[in-house]
Amino acid sequence: MSINLIYTQLKKTQTAVARLNEDGSHSILVNLNKPLDAQRVSVLHELGHIKHDDFHSEKHINLIERIAHDRELDEDIDEEFFYHVVNSKDV
Ligand SMILES: [Zn+2]
Repeated sequence: MSINLIYTQLKKTQTAVARLNEDGSHSILVNLNKPLDAQRVSVLHELGHIKHDDFHSEKHINLIERIAHDRELDEDIDEEFFYHVVNSKDV
């Protein structure tokens, strides 16, 4: 399954947001206005959600987030990545 990394502008409070697409792939929207190290930590956090299939979890979101924040961040994920940069000036 593939993951689309989309570098774009998000709300000031957001660094990265993961979405489950209709075709079963995932997109991670990354706020390109945030520092690179913050982007990296957030992308790994969102990858954790994808890896652990949190989108299909019936646990309460607060519990999902608590588990997610206790996880070791690791890059060992068997997915194909696609990179996109969406600059709002081009839209
Ligand atoms: Zn989270």
